[in-house]
Amino acid sequence: MLMKKLICILSAFFVLVAGCSEKNTVNSATRDIFAMDTYMSLKAYGENAETALSLAQDEIIRLESLLSVTNEKSDVSAINQSNGHTVSVSEDTVKIIEKAIEIGNQTNGALDITIYPVLKEWGFTTGNYSIPSPDVLNQYLKYVDYGQIITNGNSVTVPENFQIDLGALAKGYTSDSVMNILKDNNIDSAVVSLGGNVQTLGKKQDGSLWKVGIINPFSPDTSMGVIEVSDKAVITSGNYERYFIGDDGNRYCHIIDSSDGYPADNGLVSVTIIGESGLICDALSTALFVYGKENAVKYWQEYNNFDMILVSDDMTITITEGIEKTFQNMSEMQTKVIRCK
Ligand code: ADP
Ligand code: MG
Repeated sequence: MLMKKLICILSAFFVLVAGCSEKNTVNSATRDIFAMDTYMSLKAYGENAETALSLAQDEIIRLESLLSVTNEKSDVSAINQSNGHTVSVSEDTVKIIEKAIEIGNQTNGALDITIYPVLKEWGFTTGNYSIPSPDVLNQYLKYVDYGQIITNGNSVTVPENFQIDLGALAKGYTSDSVMNILKDNNIDSAVVSLGGNVQTLGKKQDGSLWKVGIINPFSPDTSMGVIEVSDKAVITSGNYERYFIGDDGNRYCHIIDSSDGYPADNGLVSVTIIGESGLICDALSTALFVYGKENAVKYWQEYNNFDMILVSDDMTITITEGIEKTFQNMSEMQTKVIRCK
């Protein structure tokens, strides 16, 4: 599974790199890192590229140590072992939790970072996959309700037996942070891929837009299309990313619908969000995947401050009007464009 994931990520990045053959006139630097349980590639152009990427790498490691659900010393573990007591955590952790609550509220709880007790029962944290019984799911769903998280300054309180997991937002927050570090170090052209979640700074060296490959969820080692962006994050959640096939022959993916505790199966097989903030794009990619196609379209029409590519299980692609000219569909699937009312 890990190998397959690596191939997917590399193929996404390959499209990205293949589309940006620069003339090599300016200093550039690259980094390949394994962190947050995924492969990451960073590329920056400019005088300070090497230093900037070293600082970016340090930042990734710092955030991983705060946000990891498996690291005993992380902020997330402090919350998960708090037994209902208030704990003090970093500003980064609070910012992510508060954004998760906000987007949970906007999506009727489709994004619910307290899903962790249920996620564990499916074995997504250990790789020992199994289909929990309805009784077990109901037992653990009692501890799922992001609305009961309380934040106050740097303090966080969750009820006893509640556990959080920031996996749905952590990489997006991290790519925002990396972009800020690169900007502070006078880099104005860069692209990072954190496990296939891409974020871009400025434009390519030749002044053209970055090309980001979008994985075909029905054939994850191929691209279904390419989107051209600058200064944007392009973040995808899909049912092909981490899943297992149950004894019943069905596919169970790692994004859980907190309304019933089962992997989300609301008509979408992948959701790509394109916008300025990696944190928001990451949160929305997971939230709208759970929320389903109709709700995702309504959400976009209401907020209208991002673009998206939805792939449905009936093999159709829905894109928002803002990317009509910059998304190139290279698949056999039909594209429908939705517009603001
Ligand atoms: P990836 O991490 O593969 O890029 P996502 O950003 O969609 O994909 O995050 C999926 C992760 O989010 C899961 O592995 C799990 O840790 C967490 N998660 C699963 N379901 C939910 C949910 N309904 N709300 C919030 N987090 C979730
Ligand atoms: Mg996400």
